[in-house]
Amino acid sequence: MPDSVIRVLLIEDNPLHARMLRGFLESLTTPAFPVSWEGSLTSGLNRAAEEDFDVVLLDLVLPDSRGLDTFLRWKANAPQIPVVVLTGLDDMALATRAVENGAQDYLLKNQITAALLSRSLRYAVERVWARSEEWDSPMFRVAHQQFLKAAQFMGLDDNIRQRLLFPQRTQVLSLPFRRDGYDQVETVFGYRVQHVLTMGPTKGGVRYHPSVSLGEVAALAMWMTWKCALMGLPYGGAKGGVRIDPRGLSRQELQRLTRRYTSEIIHIIGPDKDIPAPDLGTNAQVMAWMMDTYSEQVGHTVPEVVTGKPVVLGGSVGRKEATGQGVIFMVEEAAKHLGMDLSKSTAVIQGFGNVGSHAAHFLEELDTTIIGISDVSGGLYNDKGFDIEELRQYTAENGSLEGYSECDRISNSELLELSCDILVPAAIENQITAGNADRIQCKILAEGANGPTTTEADEILNERDIFVVPDILANAGGVTVSYFEWVQGTQNYMWTLDEINSRLRKIMTRAFHEVLHRADRDDLDLRTASLIQGIERVTKAKLKRGLFP
Ligand code: GLU
Repeated sequence: MPDSVIRVLLIEDNPLHARMLRGFLESLTTPAFPVSWEGSLTSGLNRAAEEDFDVVLLDLVLPDSRGLDTFLRWKANAPQIPVVVLTGLDDMALATRAVENGAQDYLLKNQITAALLSRSLRYAVERVWARSEEWDSPMFRVAHQQFLKAAQFMGLDDNIRQRLLFPQRTQVLSLPFRRDGYDQVETVFGYRVQHVLTMGPTKGGVRYHPSVSLGEVAALAMWMTWKCALMGLPYGGAKGGVRIDPRGLSRQELQRLTRRYTSEIIHIIGPDKDIPAPDLGTNAQVMAWMMDTYSEQVGHTVPEVVTGKPVVLGGSVGRKEATGQGVIFMVEEAAKHLGMDLSKSTAVIQGFGNVGSHAAHFLEELDTTIIGISDVSGGLYNDKGFDIEELRQYTAENGSLEGYSECDRISNSELLELSCDILVPAAIENQITAGNADRIQCKILAEGANGPTTTEADEILNERDIFVVPDILANAGGVTVSYFEWVQGTQNYMWTLDEINSRLRKIMTRAFHEVLHRADRDDLDLRTASLIQGIERVTKAKLKRGLFP
């Protein structure tokens, strides 16, 4: 479920029932259920052939079709769209047979409420997704393509290649949590994936987002492996997540969900097993709840079980800013290499979350003019440059950049195509694709997000000589300072911000030059060179450890 809109096709011939159902659907907001109505099977099928729908609400008794045949005809013609059957009390046996034949659910017309309808439709979409697309995510395909390309260039041993393609350990959960008011229990899908267990504990964030799936989490875990190996950190990669939009949850709901998720994965996490951290949709507070839940279970406080926690609970100074700071350290190295003066350069940042806002702040400190910025509310352009502190204050007061006036409003695609020196995609994956790569107009593209560029786009950018600092290098500042946080926790050290930042700069700069050297020597793009650096280290470790038994 890529976003929080579920498009419904309602096929119902009784206008009174149709009016009631449409009324319910139109009253719902998270997610929203835009609804189209047809009164016969034929017109419903025609509509589904013309438009995209996520789910169909299907009455089995229609003017042009009756009984199970209605469902079977639907399934034969539009098998890809999940079905929730509408039935009367007297037709329950029929509805059950439809479920046996592949319908996701059925609803008794005289018992439907808006809440029941919302849940049934959401779960129908979720279940189909869970059954068919868990591994098959576009992100996992990108991660595989990148890995296979690097493996080819480096002549990777095929035994190792096969072992690295899929994560070593995955846990898939269906977990419940109570809604406020305690009358509803939501059941959502959750994951924790550990890609490589060879290097030490595994490490990686927890993502709360509606697009989280096993494949997505596996891709992100794989990238964590390469990222940690490239930085020389003693970790394999992991990632976790819950398929949910956290913006639709109250603070209490978020806390209950987090505690339940933590207790479900408690046996596979721990300071020497697997150490979660924040990612998209989670933050220091979520880490504090995870740490507290874990500590309550083991009977003593264990701050090192997570990183990215609040400083007062043993978090590290500089961790919050670390990913954005690291991106800008890499931009500084890239600019030096290309002979660019950052104080005379312009930048565009996609995303104003933790990574984007800090990257913007650190670039501003280097006197770079930030001419474009975006967040969930859209893109902003000002050729004179933005005052980042003012934007931060505006976001803190208003929740987003919506309504900020000292700029022109532009779309996300216009933002990415602005002419600038530095472009930092710091939002979500799959932003620079074959569709827009030839219109990207920057000199340095520094990937703050994970997986923002597709493989095809990569080739176009390389041909156009755009200097791409790939995600596993550019955004490695987060996990590197997470490592510092873990070391401080296990050894009871307290490092200052200067110590953190100078160590971070040293580690990332070394990695940058190793990658650059390899890229020059072997005539590779920086992404492939970075991947090879990471894969090589993991391969050496696997071969040295040998195979049990
Ligand atoms: N979620 C961050 C990343 O993708 C940080 C992970 C961590 O600190 O362990 O790199």
